[in-house]
Amino acid sequence: MTTISTPMPVLFVGHGSPMNAIEDNAFHRSWSELGRQLPRPRAILCISAHWQTPGVFVTGSRQPETIYDFYGFPQALFDVRYPSPGDPALARRIADLLTHEHADVDTTRGLDHGAWSVLCAMYPRADIPVLQLSLDRRKNGPDHYRLAHALMPLRDQGVLIIASGNIVHNLSLFRFHDFAPLAWAQRFRDLVNTHIARRSHTALCDYPRLGADAALAINSAEHYLPLLYALGLQRDDDEVSFFNDEVLSAISMTSLLITQHTGAR
Ligand code: ZN
Repeated sequence: MTTISTPMPVLFVGHGSPMNAIEDNAFHRSWSELGRQLPRPRAILCISAHWQTPGVFVTGSRQPETIYDFYGFPQALFDVRYPSPGDPALARRIADLLTHEHADVDTTRGLDHGAWSVLCAMYPRADIPVLQLSLDRRKNGPDHYRLAHALMPLRDQGVLIIASGNIVHNLSLFRFHDFAPLAWAQRFRDLVNTHIARRSHTALCDYPRLGADAALAINSAEHYLPLLYALGLQRDDDEVSFFNDEVLSAISMTSLLITQHTGAR
């Protein structure tokens, strides 16, 4: 595969409600803006909170289906199609990068809303190949971080890697009628942002030690773990900028753009 001189940026996107896919709100607009500003990728690899597996898998379908992995939302959301092509050859190459993880290609899996809700705003034409990498729930934080590091060569091959979750995510404590930030959620957002700014990745990988707020914010971990992929792909000369850095009740929308210092934007 050709090597492209400027490494592609890496994104961590707080995706929040699936409705962000179709609502004209600040989150949707920020994703559209990113799609316009970032260098056009030759392919996109998403690591979403919504694909958890025993073992590591990469989607290898030629034409991945749009998966509606939610319920109780308006029909308009179920009418969204994101018909981007896949890239089976790239899927194989990604699995090869992860041979030490015994990664395998899944030729039947489609795209979940952690991927398409963001992509339909970023790249509405759906004309860039999209793949997903699963979250192996047998792994701990440092394992995920190390796995992500092995994906680093993709940044030099025009692949935009988007990790999609929410750093603070507790639906059981979420107040659907009052989005005022809960105190513990805001404290944990601040703590994590400080660690990100200081590049304290070890502390973020070892999240069970981040205290009582962490236990509330990361109660089921799948929305937090994608963050460790974005950080594992950060290089020494990268800059990290925060966007959508808001807490809505018990969910944070905090997102990161990791890009080479010389400026890919
Ligand atoms: Zn989600």
